Amino acid sequence: MVLSDNRKIALIGTGMVGMSYAYALLNQNACDELVLIDLDKRRAEGEAMDLNHGLPFSGSHMKIYAGSYADCKNADIVVICAGVAQKSGESRLELLQRNAGVFRSIIGPVMESGFNGLMLVATNPVDIMTRVACKLSGLAPGRVFGTGTALDTARLRYLLGAYFSVDPRNMHAYVIGEHGDSEFVPWSQAMLATKPVLRILEQSDGRFTRAALEEISEGVRSAAQQIIAAKKATYYGIGMAMVRITRAIFGNESSILTVSAMLHGEYGQREVYAGVPCVVGREGVLRVLTLMLEPKEQEKLAASCAVLQKSYQQLQL
Ligand code: NAD
Repeated sequence: MVLSDNRKIALIGTGMVGMSYAYALLNQNACDELVLIDLDKRRAEGEAMDLNHGLPFSGSHMKIYAGSYADCKNADIVVICAGVAQKSGESRLELLQRNAGVFRSIIGPVMESGFNGLMLVATNPVDIMTRVACKLSGLAPGRVFGTGTALDTARLRYLLGAYFSVDPRNMHAYVIGEHGDSEFVPWSQAMLATKPVLRILEQSDGRFTRAALEEISEGVRSAAQQIIAAKKATYYGIGMAMVRITRAIFGNESSILTVSAMLHGEYGQREVYAGVPCVVGREGVLRVLTLMLEPKEQEKLAASCAVLQKSYQQLQL
């Protein structure tokens, strides 16, 4: 698969997440052509108009328009942010089942267009929906991946940067597993520059504590809930995380990002999509990085993957 010189993205789902991504793409000049597709065609048209009116103020010459599934044919990346919201009284599984229906209505026409690129999924529960997308599309697993714990990892780095008073970009730590309740931070792998965070704790005379680290990881796990309670939805952070992934693809960066990828025996796990550090480039997920997890961390990852397996197996596709 060779990506074109014209970096084309087909964005499906022009809600808050989709449009935060689109707005960040425009501001970062991260693609050349962006087609907006939504069940609500009028909304997609309005969003295209609104974004186009920002073009004269941007350094970008992006071609932006509302389109149809036929426009996915020559897209390099199809990005899926479409989904339905949880109804009151609806179980997680019922929501999942409805979102699987949404994906059936999307992925069929995407593939019928002749699409032959990469697929990036943000719809929640993202690890399961990415696996659904892989199954329905028939694309190779390395070409279908989800946002995984990319946003959670960014939240972690932000909080760690504040705690240790350094730029978050100098904090190297990951949130791994399910993008959800069973996600966790393998602290044995957390570094400030090249210095292990746990070593800094030992040498800090109680200034930095394990309890504070646990509070940080809990803050990451509950961040979405806190934002939703305050403003109903989260979208800027995820939109920017998606642009970061997009840049890694178009720039063929081989950057390490915690996307949701299919595991093929890494960490002792198979046939499950989970957020793990992956090398991402023009061909998609080039490989999964296997961290030297401690036995307890390995168990936590296995438990998180078991949660994901169970949800997927309950689904009727
Ligand atoms: P939203 O309701 O604002 O937008 C959803 C869009 O999907 C709407 O425009 C709707 O018309 C469209 N849609 C619904 N069914 C469709 C179909 N069958 N075909 C085409 N389009 C369809 O929701 P949002 O706030 O943008 O969130 C979108 C998804 O992203 C949700 O599943 C949300 O949970 C998820 N999300 C993921 C992360 C992450 O870290 N992965 C973070 C935040 C939100």
